[in-house]
Amino acid sequence: MRGCSSPHQANCIASAPPMADDLALAIFSVRPYDRYVVGELLKSFPKAKVLDAPLNVNTAMLAQDCTAINVFVNDDLSAEVLDLLAGYGVKCITLRCAGFDRVDIVRAHELGITVLRVPAYSPYAVAEHAIALMMALNRQVVKAHSRVLQGNFDLSGLVGFDMHGKTVGVVGTGKIGQCAAAILRGFGCEVLVYDVFENQEVKDMGCVYVSLDELLARSSIISLHCPLLPSTRHIINPESIAKMKRGAMVINVSRGGLIDTKAVLDGLKSRQIGSLGMDVYENEAGVFFIDQSTMSDDQPGASIPEGYDTMLGSLMAHPNVLVTPHMAFLTQDAIEKIASVTVENLKEFINGGPCGNKVLPPK
Ligand code: NAD
Repeated sequence: MRGCSSPHQANCIASAPPMADDLALAIFSVRPYDRYVVGELLKSFPKAKVLDAPLNVNTAMLAQDCTAINVFVNDDLSAEVLDLLAGYGVKCITLRCAGFDRVDIVRAHELGITVLRVPAYSPYAVAEHAIALMMALNRQVVKAHSRVLQGNFDLSGLVGFDMHGKTVGVVGTGKIGQCAAAILRGFGCEVLVYDVFENQEVKDMGCVYVSLDELLARSSIISLHCPLLPSTRHIINPESIAKMKRGAMVINVSRGGLIDTKAVLDGLKSRQIGSLGMDVYENEAGVFFIDQSTMSDDQPGASIPEGYDTMLGSLMAHPNVLVTPHMAFLTQDAIEKIASVTVENLKEFINGGPCGNKVLPPK
């Protein structure tokens, strides 16, 4: 990189801004489905290093000599990792995602590291996946498919319910919650919504803002669309589960930490919760995005892979639970938007201009 040969020259951007061609960029956690995003990044930043390693304390050193890094949802951006990155000269972190709950924003700000995200690549993709989980659970799609594969065409135990006329609760009415609410209104559902801010467009669709307690008590389906914040961590907990309508379906495509997993398992066992669809899991880091299917093959006698998550195993073994591996965002449309916004974010950083996608510390 021009004028910045040492990783410890912390002020290199201020003294000699790199050109896009020169930007030393490390792209972490690259998987096959990232090929399009990586290709677009390489077109603009040909010196980028492409790494399949996730970012954590042990791998931060791979960012040595890099001015910027690009990371995904489960990469570790705790204060400890940020301190290491700052030492290696990293000045900018770009996220290939919207949520930033794994970034210690306060520490990044203190270290003078700019954090840029992709705030809205496709709210439709995520909302539509929430509806896919809802419909698959309601109409027992997975159970029915596995039965017919075995030659069993019996209908016993496959009774679903009409979505039309049902009451659905949407928690968080930002971009994704609004899309989910619109689809649900299209089904003819009564949609109750809860948020700390009211969204006029959501009200205009005929959705009704109520307290969280009322939403829990009246909804047959509860769909979570708020970010993971201290105020929303374990918003689904033993108390909130006790307030739900008996047998309610819970859908979480937002962040795993919104749900107290142990409490939900208890709720499923007691049938207070009727079913659960989850694309995210509170302990998903180190489990999701990895093919664990063959991990015990080279350990004779080992029946389960090392590090097997028994809580997740219990959830997945439950007949009324559907788990997908944090893939709600994964549409080609969303991937293309992630790529173009990430390239723009990095160009704005290089040009030193204001970036609308900068994540600021809480006031
Ligand atoms: P957004 O910022 O547009 O909307 C979030 C909404 O949550 C806002 O209206 C906000 O006021 C509300 N909120 C904040 N605190 C709340 C609280 N205590 N109670 C109720 N509502 C509260 O965000 P978005 O684009 O709609 O995304 C929502 C979340 O979805 C993201 O934060 C991210 O965690 C998750 N997400 C998941 C995937 C996936 O692939 N599974 C992809 C993208 C986003």
